[in-house]
Amino acid sequence: MATKYIFVTGGVTSSLGKGIISASLAKLLQARGYSVTIQKFDPYINIDPGTLNPYEHGECFVTEDGAETDLDLGHYERFLNVATSQANNVTTGRIYHHVITQEREGAYLGKTVQVVPHITDEIKRRMLLLGESGEYDIVITEIGGCVGDIESLPFIEAVRQLRWDLGVNETCVIHLTLLPYLKAAGELKTKPTQHSVRDLSEAGVQPDILVCRSEHPIPSDLRKKIALFCNVKQNSVIESIDAETIYDVPLLMRKEKLDERVIAKLKLTHKADPNLDTWKEFLGKLKNPTSEVNIALVGKYVELPDAYKSIIESFVHAGSANECKVNIKWFQSENVNDENVATLLQNMDGVLVAPGFGERGFKGKLEAIRFVRENNIPFMGICLGMQCAAVEFARNVLGLEGAASTEMNPETPHPVIDMMEDQKQITQMGGTMRLGAYTCELKRGSKAYSIYGKSKISERHRHRYEFNNKYLQAFEEAGMHATGINPDTGLVEVIELQNHPWFVAAQYHPELKSTVLNPHPLFVKFVKAAINFAKSK
Ligand code: GLN
Repeated sequence: MATKYIFVTGGVTSSLGKGIISASLAKLLQARGYSVTIQKFDPYINIDPGTLNPYEHGECFVTEDGAETDLDLGHYERFLNVATSQANNVTTGRIYHHVITQEREGAYLGKTVQVVPHITDEIKRRMLLLGESGEYDIVITEIGGCVGDIESLPFIEAVRQLRWDLGVNETCVIHLTLLPYLKAAGELKTKPTQHSVRDLSEAGVQPDILVCRSEHPIPSDLRKKIALFCNVKQNSVIESIDAETIYDVPLLMRKEKLDERVIAKLKLTHKADPNLDTWKEFLGKLKNPTSEVNIALVGKYVELPDAYKSIIESFVHAGSANECKVNIKWFQSENVNDENVATLLQNMDGVLVAPGFGERGFKGKLEAIRFVRENNIPFMGICLGMQCAAVEFARNVLGLEGAASTEMNPETPHPVIDMMEDQKQITQMGGTMRLGAYTCELKRGSKAYSIYGKSKISERHRHRYEFNNKYLQAFEEAGMHATGINPDTGLVEVIELQNHPWFVAAQYHPELKSTVLNPHPLFVKFVKAAINFAKSK
């Protein structure tokens, strides 16, 4: 069958959850037997979000092929259990970069290069790219930003053109809006939705389905009114009510028959009713925990939990797998010091030191690690968290005064974490870290090996610094073992402490591979260790 294309746009305000709606619809279609992928088109000028501060745009998600992407790709992977790639995230910057490079090469044969058709042609080419692989029955394209924004116009124009190029039954446009509730009037208001659909229509795109975010159920007379004003069928006004967890949304969308409306619009042959058994089982365990643990997340972006999106979701998956309610307690590492660390962390059943960049909050992370190391509290370190564990051990166990990562102190007498050799020549910041999937060999008999249940693993990376192997022998003799090694480069990927119930730290990012269907073993076993620790208290 020819690939069908669904476009998801948003209006009224940002943060309505287009990513979750797209992922939920994709899940429902996948559960019916269609092969589905989702891509995100972002209207900002950055080539990718890799150079963005997490406070700007939340976490930067890294794909297998090493693309630094929008955090919505994390949702796509967690819901669908299918890996995404560079092709799944496109920005205005990437589009213009391509067109301008072509222009410099003389590819436009003397023509004036314009937004229409050259930029829109390039957008369309990329919108169709994944579909042309023949791998997918359905490609869902989420357009970032809001309809009416100056910068999203070329994307909406590309959608308008594609609807003509491909034909009416080949595409479906879903527009996400907000129905605000006015407390004083006791009413949900439809006017912002009407206006945003009008904006979209003015740009030549008539939505087929409206998904209306709302804090209250939408009564049928209101659906009727929206349908009348917005040129959609009443049964295509879909309610998207605030959910207890994002993982409820596929079931809520199923109840609202979003998948059925899409199937009807695209004239898809009915394959099967969605099989959501494993999804429901996951939810059942998530909502009926038999135990509860407190996990400290020590990091420097804790004011914006979106900066740690994949870690939070990995704990949700691991919590469900253990039938345990995981309470994440946030600790700004800048505020942790040797005097308050015991008070702050005394009720924690596990401590995670998060990934990150730069000096700020570094000392607090070291204090947190010293505390958990000395008090046998389960500890997991990710990327910078692993590097901190190495520095803390070097300073406080090996007695290497002033030991540091050269990221924090280039003049340190003991660079136990140092810049990777192939990073030293690099001058450009964007897309030049060690990125994406690399294999790692786990030592038999190690904790890491027992966690994964195998020796050869592959995990995703995003870093410039690494463990300095000159110090490896001293570390191992003192009880900190390197139990995961990259077989090609010898780079240390996992360190773990002997004589500690659970102290494991990884240079890679396990959180990027945890999904509902495949909760990540490191998180699952870390939560389990926290449960055991809580019981032993
Ligand atoms: N800043 C460290 C590095 O570049 C760690 C990166 C991270 O935590 N993702 O190596």
